[in-house]
Amino acid sequence: MSYKVKIGLSNKHVHLQQEHLEILFGKGYELTHKKPLVQPGQFASEETVDIVGPKKTLKGVRILGPVRPETQVELAMTDARSIGIKAPVRESGKLEGTPGCKIIGPCGEIEIDHGVMVALRHVHLNPQQAIEAGVKDKDIVCLKIDGERGLIFDNVLVRSGDKHEREVHLDTDEGNAAGCGPDAIAEIIK
Ligand SMILES: [Zn+2]
Repeated sequence: MSYKVKIGLSNKHVHLQQEHLEILFGKGYELTHKKPLVQPGQFASEETVDIVGPKKTLKGVRILGPVRPETQVELAMTDARSIGIKAPVRESGKLEGTPGCKIIGPCGEIEIDHGVMVALRHVHLNPQQAIEAGVKDKDIVCLKIDGERGLIFDNVLVRSGDKHEREVHLDTDEGNAAGCGPDAIAEIIK
């Protein structure tokens, strides 16, 4: 059975914890909604920060809201390498042992000692969609992408629950490798 999912390409971005947001943007600061994301309740904010590594700075990196329990910087491997950080591939929120960086905002800066990672590619499905696709939360599946640079990605994590909505998340390196445009589709293969 074939189950198809639209691909969302994640550019480099940052999730901030409230105390870090307030150091970078000022006391009591709240993020400004720019655009809702496909995942329920999540949004791209108007605010950006600069991510500083040993070799270089990535300017204007978008903050995604809402605030989270722990600050997390998600980069493609190309981004991480360009600023001199060796970032491991991690599931969101699993930040133990990851490297840190400096983050600069308009009102201040912070030095985090961990939190920089390359996101483990994954597919979001709500519970009903997971049933239709014949998969469950934490399954590992393959994704087939057609086209001129078509390829099959192995080791794709299924993330399913009430707070999820059908969408594949690949980063810019993965999307470019597969030649994905804005309307790219992937097929789940078990
Ligand atoms: Zn995601």
